[in-house]
Amino acid sequence: MKIEKDVAVTVHFKVSELTGKLLDDGKEPVAYLHGGYGNVPPKVEKALEGQSAGYQVTLDLQPEDAFGVHDENLVQTISKSQFPPGVKVGGQLQGPDREGRARTFIVKKIKGQEVFLDGNHPLAGKGLRFDVTVIGVRAASVEEVEHGHVHGDGGHHH
Ligand code: ZN
Repeated sequence: MKIEKDVAVTVHFKVSELTGKLLDDGKEPVAYLHGGYGNVPPKVEKALEGQSAGYQVTLDLQPEDAFGVHDENLVQTISKSQFPPGVKVGGQLQGPDREGRARTFIVKKIKGQEVFLDGNHPLAGKGLRFDVTVIGVRAASVEEVEHGHVHGDGGHHH
């Protein structure tokens, strides 16, 4: 079976920075729904289109093709008094960005009464190398297509 729209694809994604630093060894298989559902970067989907199980490819992606460039507008400082107690550096906080959209912020630094937050994806601004191995391809269920993601092993559980 070939990879095309609305097919559930199981892959090993080994991810490293272009500098060679390993970020994810990809040992844990990941399942995604193919066809522009935003589960994997579009350039990765394009490389896998029409391929089948056993296919292997290495892709070097620039930040704008991976998790985006680092957006300074998403770096914010708030007062400690606005802050829920118990959140530490490296912790996460849900909140609206300047346009009012819900976003996850990472606590970068706490200095005196100021808390420094970053709403960028942790991999934003980084060029990434994806070593992709396709291990399984199957038709997605109607429910999976409705949800826009794969269920079960390597996918969503809910
Ligand atoms: Zn679902």
